[in-house]
Parts: sequence; structure tokens; C-alpha cells
Amino acid sequence: MLQNKLDDVILFADDDDDLDIEPDEVDPSNAWHVLVVDDDAEIHSVTQLALSGLETLGKPLYFGHAYSGKESIEYMQNHHDVAVILMDVVMEHENAGLDAVKHIRDQLGQTNTRIILRTGQPGYAPEETVVQQYDINDYKTKTELTRSKLVTTLISAIRSFDQITQIEKSKAQLANIVASCVQLQQQDPQKFTQETVSALNDLLEIHAQGLICVRPINKENARPFVIGSTSDYQDCNGQLIEQLDNGRIIMQLSQCLNHQQHQLHAADMALFVKSKKFHAAIYLDEGIDSSQFNEQLTNVLLSNVGVSLENVQLFQELKNMAFRDNLTGLSNRTDFIRMLDKYVQDPSMGDTVVLVDLTHFADINDGLGQETGNHLLRAVAERLKEKYGNNSRLARVSADVFGIIGHKILVNPEHILELFDYPLKVQDQRIPVHFSMGFCDRDPNDKTGIRILKHADIALNQAKKDRQQCYSYFSDTMEQKTAWRLGMAHQLREDFAANKLQVWFQPQLDISSHNVIGFEALLRWPRVEGGMIEPEVFVPLAEHSGLMIDIGNWVVEESCRQLKQLEDKGYNKIRIAINVSMAQFRNPKFVPTIIDTVHKFAVKPQSIELEITESVLMNNPGAVIDALTLLKAEGIQVSLDDFGTGFSSLNYLHQLPLDRMKIDRAFVRDILSKNGEVIVETVLALGKKLGLHTIAEGVEEMVQERKLLDMGCEEVQGFLYAKPLAPEQVQNFVAEHQNSHQHH
Ligand code: C2E
Ligand code: CA
Ligand code: CA
Repeated sequence: MLQNKLDDVILFADDDDDLDIEPDEVDPSNAWHVLVVDDDAEIHSVTQLALSGLETLGKPLYFGHAYSGKESIEYMQNHHDVAVILMDVVMEHENAGLDAVKHIRDQLGQTNTRIILRTGQPGYAPEETVVQQYDINDYKTKTELTRSKLVTTLISAIRSFDQITQIEKSKAQLANIVASCVQLQQQDPQKFTQETVSALNDLLEIHAQGLICVRPINKENARPFVIGSTSDYQDCNGQLIEQLDNGRIIMQLSQCLNHQQHQLHAADMALFVKSKKFHAAIYLDEGIDSSQFNEQLTNVLLSNVGVSLENVQLFQELKNMAFRDNLTGLSNRTDFIRMLDKYVQDPSMGDTVVLVDLTHFADINDGLGQETGNHLLRAVAERLKEKYGNNSRLARVSADVFGIIGHKILVNPEHILELFDYPLKVQDQRIPVHFSMGFCDRDPNDKTGIRILKHADIALNQAKKDRQQCYSYFSDTMEQKTAWRLGMAHQLREDFAANKLQVWFQPQLDISSHNVIGFEALLRWPRVEGGMIEPEVFVPLAEHSGLMIDIGNWVVEESCRQLKQLEDKGYNKIRIAINVSMAQFRNPKFVPTIIDTVHKFAVKPQSIELEITESVLMNNPGAVIDALTLLKAEGIQVSLDDFGTGFSSLNYLHQLPLDRMKIDRAFVRDILSKNGEVIVETVLALGKKLGLHTIAEGVEEMVQERKLLDMGCEEVQGFLYAKPLAPEQVQNFVAEHQNSHQHH
């Protein structure tokens, strides 16, 4: 009661007691900044006394003082965080207070600050329009202002100041989030991470460095690993988080992922990101106070991060697969070539390269079974790792060939042979192994990785033929042995001119109805002595000798001829896929020639499909994309062949005018293994994402078809259905096939 009475005492009634303003001990940066403007010093002290000890929304008040309109403007010029001004109307002149308000709003642009006008005499009340125009919160005559009224007026003004600043901040942050989300469409995990961290820094008003780790959720035992980082944490890239040499980060990230919650601390934080396929945690090395943490906006940003990450993640997985050999965990051929490219630049990596080929591996595979063969390869990899894992670079370059990059003192025939002196233990059997080795010492003339690999391979082939010793070193003279190739090229030219080449056609079927939907045109070169020379042998030969352009054009013609015959028989929904090689794309007449041929035979351009491989694409992406765009405009379809073997083109994939993705037969072969399954699944998911049709090649068994069908693959090609057919068999096949189908 007594307190109430006191509260009702009119504060500004005349009385002569001197009141001193106590020195302010409040920390201004964490307080509501209140500016008292009055020409009467006493009003300052009374106000401050009346409000002393007041706290609202968790913060005390901090007072600033100005004794005229002019001073108040100066004060506001220097302080941008004033929450409330208690402004006297009449000071140095009758309108000094109102003039100051106008100046603060219009000139200084300080629109968030709340303003309470106070005046000694009722007659000085400003007009309503002025109150509105200058966004004045309240107008009180000093006689109206009891202590409790002053407190409530001030608290409500502070509340509205707080809301206004929050809204302003949110607006700015939302604009930032929108901008960030646009940038997050990155597919490079490194850049993606940097942009995510920078967007979070902006939002949370910190300057942290950090990293992103991801844990797939639908794979058993999947352990979280770092997919990208800012510069301070570059070393962490690609590592499992348990391997990081920073216990603090490991702890924060694990807790974040285990509890599926943001972890906010004084010194750092880990933010949780959830998506359908994985969980991710973003570590930031600067902390935030939970009261400052705008969870809603952060979650808006993070949910976008999650969506974008799915894309990045998909690409990342494919890239990892593309560089690793799933059987042994070593680098694969692609990665080996990358390492060789580095080796060219970096002498510290060593001075020699060797290819180690397991002799008779095919026999072991046939005799003891593929399972044992795989175990053997793993055992070889393990033994190589023991010796070379830490000091050299290792890879499995092809089925039974391993590659090592290192120093001659370690990487030499004696050491490698010694390593396999005692037999390998494989599934309770002891299998002795023998090797051929092709060495290639560092030569400053070798400027590319692929060239070194080629040289080591030449040396390896030499070693295989040698009956005395199982290894050989590359020398320039070996290259001259390629003389036979020249002879072959000559023969090819003659045979092509004599019309001895053939184009065969392998059926492609709809996976569920088994209707023939098309054929792939495949080149054949019959030997005089019977049988065929493999296209894999002579197509590269034709490329090198400049013959491929003519041969390629001829394949297009033969395909159109076949198509025309099919169309004439009423089979007008069948397409023919034609392989296109590098040399053809380099030829400026490539596009017009194809279009001419299509017109000449009067076939539907939609029935022609071109199969291009990644290597063709990557050779000159710009030119290939241009050519394909022209062909597509004509109606011709495009399919990406051998998809999944290189993945170097991932960055271009969405720019390519593609209709179809062809899953390489190597993946179909492995589809029943866990890893193979994941790859095919990922490729199909990627195809779907890009809106492409999918066809699998090399289907040899029903189980493979079953699996592909389950995974949503649309079309198939392989020995299970038919081997490539001679041209004259094509029509029969279609007819028979359709007949047999109608009977079912
Ligand atoms: P590719 O484009 O990957 O062609 C598919 C290859 O897989 C063909 O080998 C085909 O006979 C084979 N194949 C089909 N089904 C199966 C199966 O179920 N199991 C297995 N193991 N293999 C199967 P082919 O005819 O020896 O052709 C080899 C490569 O030569 C082709 O690979 C292609 O890159 C190239 N090639 C063939 N014809 C041409 C052509 O006209 N132009 C160009 N530029 N390249 C061609
Ligand atoms: Ca092909
Ligand atoms: Ca292929």
C-alpha cells in the first residue's frame, strides 16, 4: 500500500531537494539505452532515480543525457543504439523538442528509436498528425507522469523497440538466406562448405571457420566423414571424424549427430542438418550465446543446406567411387593417373613407377573360383600396403595389375619379389604368386601421367614375354615395337576401302515388356583367317591413323540404311544407337554430315541416337556440348555411354543435352555385390534426378535383370537377350521377337 502511494507521487512536482545523479555502473553494451533530453537538470536526476534498478526483457537501463534539442541531435549522431528518448518539448525554444525529433527521424534516419514527449504545460501538446508522422510513441504532460506511469510507458516503448529491431534484423537475414540458398546450389563440396559457413557467419554474426561432416542413414555402419571445410580445417577433408586429431571437434560433432540437436557452446558449436538420406553436422569454431541464437532462421537456412547437400552428396559419393577400387580399398586406375600427374610435378613423390601384374591370375580365377580370386587380390593388396602403404602410392590399376609410385631404393624388383617370397594365405590355402613387373623411371620428357602409365605398360608387356626375368625397365626403343600397329593401320585402311568392314546390331529391349526398342550399331572387322578383330583394338588404331572419320560416317550410313529397311516394314518405333568417337567430334563437318545422311535416307531423326563416352566429352566439353545441341535441335537423341566409369563429367552433366544414360557393363557385372549395387542405384538416382532414361548394358543373367528392374532401370541390352546380329538377321529378330511376344 505504501509503495502504491509512493508510486502515485507526481514526480515532477516542484520541490527543491537536490538529487544527484549516481554514477552509472551499467554496461551500456548490454542495457537498454535511454536518452533523457531536458533543459532542467533536475528532471534528469528525478527520472533516473525513478527508474533506477528497473530491468526489462532481461536487461537494465543505461542513461544518456542531453540538455537541449541541439545536444540531443548530437548525441543521436554518435549513438545508434538508443532504444527510447524521453524528450522535453520546450527547451531552447518552443519547438526545440519537436524540431529535434524531426531531425532525428528525417535527417539521421533513426526510425527504430522510440520517442516519448514530455512537457510541463498541457498547451504544448503536438498535433496528432505530427505524432503519426514522426512515429512518436507517447505524449505526456509532466504532471501526468507518476512513477508507475513512467515505468509502464517506458517498458512498453522498450518492448516495441525490441520488436522493431528484431523484425529489421530478421528481414535483413531473410534476404541473406535467400541469397545464400541461391549460392548453395554448388556441386563442389568444398565450395559448398565455404558458402554454407559464410552464410551461417552472416546469419549468426560471427566469423567462424568450420567444416561439414555427413553420415548416410540408410547404410549400416556408415561412419560420418568430412566432406568439406574452410581453409583452417583443410586437413580434415575426406577424413572420418573419429580420425580427426582434434578431440573437441570429434566430441561436438558426435554429440550433435547422436542427439540430433544443435550443440551451442561458448567457444564453438555444431549445428545439426537432417535430410532424407543422411544426417550432417556443421562444426563452427566460434560460440554463440543461446539468447542470441535465432533458431528459426538458422533452421530455415539449414533445411536448405540439407536439400543442397543431397545433391552435393550424391556427386561426392560417385566421385569417391570413381577413385577407389572397391575390392581392395586402394586407389583405382583413374586415381592412379591423377597421382601420376602429380608425380610429374612433384619430385618428392619419388623417381620410379611400376606396374605389378599377377601372372596366371585368370587361371587361378577359373580353377579356384572368383571368390578365391578376390581374396587373393585382397591379400596381395594387403601385403603391398604393409610395405608401401606409408612411403609410396598404391593403386589397383586393372583386374590383376597393381601400380606403385615411389623411390627406387624401395620400389625395385628385389624388394617386391622378396615381399612375395612366402605364399599368400587365402581362405586356408597357401597360394604362391608370381609377378611380372614393368618399371618406368622418372624421365623429364614424360609430361603427363597417362604417358608414364603407357610406358610402364610397355615395359610390363616386355617383361611378360621375357623368359629370363620377370621384370623390365622402360626404354625408348620399346616404343618402336609399336611398329606392328602401323602395319595394322595400313591393313585396316585397305580393308575399309575394300568394303570388308561390317556393322552389326545388338538389340536393346524394354526391361519389363521385352519389346525390342532399338539396336546398338557395333563395328566388326573380320580376319582373313576367320573370327573378328576386336573393335577395342582397331577403333583406337583408326582414331590414330585418321581413318575414324570416314569409318564413322560409314557406320552412320549403314545404320540409316538398316533403319530405313525397318521403317519400310512398318517397324517405325525402333531406334539405332551409334557410337561416336573423339576424332569424329573434332571434325567440323561432323554435325552437317550426320544431318545430311539422315535426310538422304529419309529416316526419322528421332530414331537415331548417338552414344558418346565421358572421355569424348571431357576432351573438349564446350565443342561437344555445342555439337550435341545442334544435333538435338534436329531431333537426334543422345546417350551417355559407359556411364559411371569416369565420373569426370559430373560437373557438366546438367548442361548436357542428354536423353539417356547407359550404365556400364562393369557395374551390371558387379550388381549382385554390395558395392556394385550401390553404384547402380546411385547412377539410376542421378539419372532420375536429371530426368534421363536409363539403359543397362552387358546384362547376361536373369538375376541381373531382376535387380535392374527392381531398381527402376528402363531398358536393357546384353547377351541374355542377344549377341550383336549381322545386318541381315536384324529384321528376323524383330519379327520373331514380336511374334514370340504376342504368343505369350
Ligand atoms: P561399347 O560401346 O561399350 O559397346 C558394348 C560392347 O559390349 C560391345 O562390344 C558388345 O558386343 C559388348 N556386349 C554386349 N552385351 C554384352 C554382354 O552381355 N556381356 C559382355 N561381356 N559384353 C557385351 P564390342 O562390339 O566388342 O565393342 C567394343 C567397343 O568398341 C564398344 O564398346 C565401343 O566403344 C567400340 N565401338 C564399337 N563399334 C564402334 C563404332 O562404330 N564406332 C566407335 N567409335 N566405336 C565403336
Ligand atoms: Ca556403346
Ligand atoms: Ca558401353
